[in-house]
Amino acid sequence: MDISRETDQDTTENVIAIVLSFMENAVNDAGTYVEHSGRKIVSKKDINMALKAETFEYIHREDIEGSLLYYKEAIRNDFNDFNDDDDNDDDDDNSPTSINSINNINNKDDSIETFLQSKVVNDSEMDEYTLSMCKCNVCKRLNKAVAIWPDWKPETDMEHVLKRVIDTKL
Ligand SMILES: [Zn+2]
Repeated sequence: MDISRETDQDTTENVIAIVLSFMENAVNDAGTYVEHSGRKIVSKKDINMALKAETFEYIHREDIEGSLLYYKEAIRNDFNDFNDDDDNDDDDDNSPTSINSINNINNKDDSIETFLQSKVVNDSEMDEYTLSMCKCNVCKRLNKAVAIWPDWKPETDMEHVLKRVIDTKL
């Protein structure tokens, strides 16, 4: 393995680890929010709120480094499994390694998708959406994030990406 390929893989691992730990935080908060609002099922709107709140919260979280190390270890194991099956696939471009490896992780992680599908339904299938009036930190943070989101101006590259994805894909 040459150095550029190793660096490329490390960058990819870092990005996937950040996305996974970001999602884990948001899904946990969405679950708390739903529970505290007296509902039983997490809707797309709850996930959307939680992702907005996580955009503001993520860099302030204390447990981030541990979480990233945990996911990087898991991802590295997946990469190694994958590379064992696929040694002599050298293209002139650096990127296919990363893309194939991401797909490989996605295929292996059907359980996450199944979990989300079992927890998330369309808003039209819900009884009635209610905001949580609870005063705990999670509920206050999600309600506040939704309120300030429309006027928020992203600054870093990561913030721009998050805003675009949350506004257009969710
Ligand atoms: Zn609450």
